[in-house]
Amino acid sequence: MAQARSEASTAVRTLTDARLNLGGAFTEEQREQLGLVGLLPDGIEPLEIQLDRARLQFDAQGSDLAKYQYLSALQDRQERLFYALLRSDFERYMPIVYTPTVGEACQKFGHILRRPKGMYLSIKRKGTLANVLRNWPIKEVRIIVVTDGERILGLGDQGVCGMGIPVGKLALYTGCAGVPPEVTLPIVLDVGTNNASFLADPLYPGLKMPRISGDEYFAFVDEFVDAVQEVFPHCCIQFEDFTNKHATPLLRRYRDNVCCFNDDIQGTASVAVAGLFGACRIVQKPMREQILLFMGAGSAGVGIADLFVTQLMSDGYCEADAIRKCWFVNSRGMVHAKMPNLPDYLQRYAHDISHLTIPPSARAGVDSPLLDLADIVETVRPTALIGVSTVAHAFNERVVRTMARLNTRPIIFPLSNPTSKSECTADEAIRWSEGRAIVASGSPFAPLHYGGKLFVPGQGNNVYIYPAVGMAIYATQASRVTDAMFLRAAESLASQTTEQDLSVGLIYPPISSILETSIEVAIAVARFIFENKLARVPQPGDIDQFVRSKVYDPSF
Ligand code: NAD
Repeated sequence: MAQARSEASTAVRTLTDARLNLGGAFTEEQREQLGLVGLLPDGIEPLEIQLDRARLQFDAQGSDLAKYQYLSALQDRQERLFYALLRSDFERYMPIVYTPTVGEACQKFGHILRRPKGMYLSIKRKGTLANVLRNWPIKEVRIIVVTDGERILGLGDQGVCGMGIPVGKLALYTGCAGVPPEVTLPIVLDVGTNNASFLADPLYPGLKMPRISGDEYFAFVDEFVDAVQEVFPHCCIQFEDFTNKHATPLLRRYRDNVCCFNDDIQGTASVAVAGLFGACRIVQKPMREQILLFMGAGSAGVGIADLFVTQLMSDGYCEADAIRKCWFVNSRGMVHAKMPNLPDYLQRYAHDISHLTIPPSARAGVDSPLLDLADIVETVRPTALIGVSTVAHAFNERVVRTMARLNTRPIIFPLSNPTSKSECTADEAIRWSEGRAIVASGSPFAPLHYGGKLFVPGQGNNVYIYPAVGMAIYATQASRVTDAMFLRAAESLASQTTEQDLSVGLIYPPISSILETSIEVAIAVARFIFENKLARVPQPGDIDQFVRSKVYDPSF
């Protein structure tokens, strides 16, 4: 009797543990051995059959949110099938697992919540975070994605409902670059929320209190970072969707002491610089000849400029000259040395503008002699215009036409997300530049025809970078994450764009081949980690083979 009970519990465990459950794929011997006989229909179903059923069920869902919930439940039920499905068609499943659908899932998280994933570390547990982390059933966690939910995508404060973001990002670490799911852990720091509708909603599952701030906030994050070092000493922490006022200070605080990075800053910078490398190949001019004008002076813009400067310096260019190639526009106009109240991180790009010839008709603002973007383009004469402002339509016809007059092939990257915030559409950039613009956007735009030619706009999606960097860190047990690693990732990504991609204006490899692209990027970054003595494992003879041997394979 006792024996029968224990067999039954093995069977139940096998079928209810998403990591063990292979559905109908268990062989006859496994069914006998695990006590599964009779608990499953007797047909043996290989992966392909189960994938067909999953596709059928996915397609039958009535909305994108329902599809998200279906995939989330599949991940809870049969992890390998979930990843095999994701990998079978990235273009179809990624927008459901991550943006844009994940945004809606976060907003409605308290209402659609079924089984919580990941960990919730609340301020109520202050002083005990290491013990709370020990409640996680897996002892060897290697990648944590953590948010405090304060700036979820472009949706503002979502409190603990922001959990959808770490969950989605980690699914892409596994799906796109092969980090094994068992070493990943999504975390939300619950430090309260200032979202009034959540505070009034009985179904909001987090702490119902205003956000903590200042020293109390930073002390809590300090405790979290220390607790991770204690409980998961080989773990990398990825900070995600923190507001600008916390993102940069937190990165500065920890980057030289622990293994961590911020994807909104460093991943964005890397994918944008990769796009610039691709664009340089099309215009046949080196990076040092580019002049960048950023519309929007927040974490994304400054992160891109900083990495661009690092790139020029690694090419032997002088830092001061490299900095002078980056110009910024904020909501008060063109940033310059005499603009009052500039944040610290922007000071290095606040240039003396006394030598510039400002058009007499230019509109001036209170804090800047140049307010209008087209006038700024006319004055600075950039080769690349990068939109990270969240101001829809900021790249209007006059702006794009001015760029096209000044450049044979103007580089135009409207990176703001979601689509409704994009500075212009790919179609507008192509039409107004008479088919000459090189475009990469934050949100996806469909391929288009102009003047009888096909144009495929690239998507400057961080997914090209962070899963691959994470894979390299996981494989090598890197002790630190440096900007140079993101530069290496950008170079590797750009080098994988083919001449055929470039001929239709596509400056990134296609998303459909993201797994192979990411593995190549991971190998390049792992090589860099070994070369720079940042690895905590011995260097293998064949780094390529070493990284590939770590890639998670969902097949069964
Ligand atoms: P942020 O809030 O840190 O910065 C936005 C900046 O835009 C601020 O400095 C703000 O002052 C400025 N701004 C606002 N109104 C303006 C105006 N009228 N004129 C000029 N500047 C104005 O945000 P962030 O993290 O830097 O992100 C900015 C945008 O970039 C978001 O839409 C985000 O989704 C997008 N983004 C895209 C990618 C990507 O595609 N890979 C990655 C990161 C961020």
